[in-house]
Amino acid sequence: MYFKEKYDIIKQLELFWVVKMAFYSEEFIDEIKSSNDIVDVVSGYVNLKRHGTTFFGNCPFHREKTASFAVTPEKQIFHCFGCGVGGNVISFIQKVENLGFKEAVELLAERAKIALPADNNYSQDESKDELKIKEYHKSQMYSINKEAGRFFHQNIYNSKLAQDYLTKRKLNISTIRKFGIGFALDDNSLFKHLKAMGFKEENMIATGLVGKTDKGILYDKFKNRLMFPIFDVRGRVVAFGGRAIGTHEELKEKHIPKYVNSPENLIYIKGKHLYGLNLAKQSTDKLKRILVVEGYMDVVTPHSYGVSNVVASLGTALTENQGKLLRQYAEEVVLSYDSDQAGQNAIMRGIDVLSELGVTCKVLQMQDAKDPDEYVLKYGRREIYIIN
Ligand SMILES: [Zn+2]
Repeated sequence: MYFKEKYDIIKQLELFWVVKMAFYSEEFIDEIKSSNDIVDVVSGYVNLKRHGTTFFGNCPFHREKTASFAVTPEKQIFHCFGCGVGGNVISFIQKVENLGFKEAVELLAERAKIALPADNNYSQDESKDELKIKEYHKSQMYSINKEAGRFFHQNIYNSKLAQDYLTKRKLNISTIRKFGIGFALDDNSLFKHLKAMGFKEENMIATGLVGKTDKGILYDKFKNRLMFPIFDVRGRVVAFGGRAIGTHEELKEKHIPKYVNSPENLIYIKGKHLYGLNLAKQSTDKLKRILVVEGYMDVVTPHSYGVSNVVASLGTALTENQGKLLRQYAEEVVLSYDSDQAGQNAIMRGIDVLSELGVTCKVLQMQDAKDPDEYVLKYGRREIYIIN
């Protein structure tokens, strides 16, 4: 009787979601549900054990020592006999990832490699027209970034300065291609190129690649920098990181910042992405272990030595959003930041964020190297088998 009552509540909840999700077709939602088996999805967060036709585990939504969280594959639903929460695979993701309905559907679509229906990509908070305009600007910004990435990459082949620098960093061409590393010249050629391609001024400025003087003259914001495109998990370029050419001392003397990154905008929010995750997550299975490092080169150099389960948090400390991404794609996280004070503080903060999310986390201490980039260059792949 008890179970039946609870099950009726789940049914009602499901009905509620059907009403709320009216902007996605029923067929699409069915596809999302049938392509994301609830046991598989929940197993990414909860250690489930089979009892007959039901799987049980410790509830991720309340603290408990006995497993009262049940998942029924036959009905594709979950229910907790402890705290009473229940629902389907979409409501599970909403709750566990703290996402809205639209975002949960997108995450599951991404997980199952299903393309989103273009016309329905808006939330219920905004009017359809406003959202269509916003979506248009976003798609233009993605296109501009993609084109800029190609343009910067092409520059590598024409710039001796860039080639010399990359040779010095021991980066081979296949790694440079894999990461789409490029070079920004100092002649406003990107702006001219984008303009010639027909992109609008406002969208170019919105990406942060192009600036405008008081007199209304447009110019390239990244100059004489090695360009690292930052991809989201879907493989779209959301931002760039630009490293100035020159040694630490030279740059300091000339007051040139070593790194300049794209500003936050419609398509880029700091702390929401992990550099290199688009490459690290390529296998469909969850990674056994993932190494989190600080900077671009700490990801790129290990890759060139065949170590691919490395991502960078791009900022000093790991954010909650990044922690959730890690939880989604790896079973265990290994933190490896610079050995300086800032790096050590970032490790403490990272441990807090990850343990709060219930992620198994370890810290990698390196001897005789200040970061993974330097370590791999010094010792090669063999000595770092632990992270692969
Ligand atoms: Zn519970």
